[in-house]
Amino acid sequence: MIREVPPTAGLPLELADFLPASDELEASLASRFGLPAPLVTSSGAGALWIALEALKSLRPERRVVVVPAFTCPLVALAVAQAGLEPRLCDTRPGHFDLDLESLRDQCGADTLAVITTHLGGRIADAVGAAAIARAAGAFLIEDAAQALGAYRHGESLGLAGDVGFFSLGAGKGLSIYSGGLVVSRDGTVRAALEATQARLVRAKPWLEAWRSLQTIGLWAAYQPFGLWFAYGQPLRRALADGDLIGALSERFAPEIRTHRVGRWRRGVGANAARRLQPFLDAGRERALLRIPRFEAIPGITVLQDGPEDAGTWPYFLLRLPNTEQRDRVLADLWPAGLGVSRAFCHALPDYPELRNFLGDADVPNARDFAARTLTVTNSPWLRDEELARICAALEAAIA
Ligand SMILES: *Cc1c(COP(=O)(O)O)cnc(C)c1O
Repeated sequence: MIREVPPTAGLPLELADFLPASDELEASLASRFGLPAPLVTSSGAGALWIALEALKSLRPERRVVVVPAFTCPLVALAVAQAGLEPRLCDTRPGHFDLDLESLRDQCGADTLAVITTHLGGRIADAVGAAAIARAAGAFLIEDAAQALGAYRHGESLGLAGDVGFFSLGAGKGLSIYSGGLVVSRDGTVRAALEATQARLVRAKPWLEAWRSLQTIGLWAAYQPFGLWFAYGQPLRRALADGDLIGALSERFAPEIRTHRVGRWRRGVGANAARRLQPFLDAGRERALLRIPRFEAIPGITVLQDGPEDAGTWPYFLLRLPNTEQRDRVLADLWPAGLGVSRAFCHALPDYPELRNFLGDADVPNARDFAARTLTVTNSPWLRDEELARICAALEAAIA
């Protein structure tokens, strides 16, 4: 049957979202999530680039940015584009979050900023990372690209450090096909972000017109029938060619291009944002029902949050006992249209195109995490019999 479940639970756009909006995207997100004066950017990576340029202008003598060794390759590309020097920090065992002991070793008088990642709605210890960054005189940037709407101690992610950013890209919760947000609670940093955006970002009407068409395309394609063509078929072709980086859409242009997001797409985002909280709440309820299904399989761990945290659940991050078993599951389920995938292809030093810039690094935990994890969608379109099929494949691979 022609049907595809997306790998993450994105909020589907509705036709009515294309009508004029009654509120501003920035003001709407500020009030819904308690974000102080967010700036809208053309992508999450663009938001990070602006953040790095802004922080660089505040402490020009510092050049090093500490990056988690397991994260989106765009994070490393943004550091390169800002002309800064990356330093990879290993993750803690079995997790994507920074290993705080390694982080302490990596931070010094040359450190401009530390980046920590809230991956897939799961909540990293940004408070611990912020304390270490600040002790070295560095800033903390929270990469909440995949975690808009997640809270820690009743407060939105992105506010524990100096800068936070979110993605409004396709498949990441609230989406206007391509967009981002950058926030800071600190007045000096916020002024630097605004000045940097004014200095570096221009309106590009033709590019914005193209993005508007792509946003309409996202509305049309983001349902199980359309996704089979737009997402599933290219995925299966890439997998058949053994092209994992293509399968994960991780072949990025070296340059992160930014431009001003137009009024119409901001309005689309503002309209859709009204449905985001109920959509995330339903996702959390669904997650609570689905997690025990995975955890009942001996050997499977689902990454979860602490008791004070309320993450979002676009997908589940599953850790398996070893790579062989993980790969057996993926061979069966990745092409199957059930929303089973991987977070990222490699630990950062293992991307050939990043090798020149990053060099090699001894990051065994990040490599182990990349090699033993997979993701299962928390899309509302995943049917119960499909979830049962996924669980059966997990059981068979581990038995
Ligand atoms: C997607 C993503 C980004 C970049 O966001 P874009 O909007 O795609 O540029 C950065 N960090 C993480 C963890 C991401 O998942």
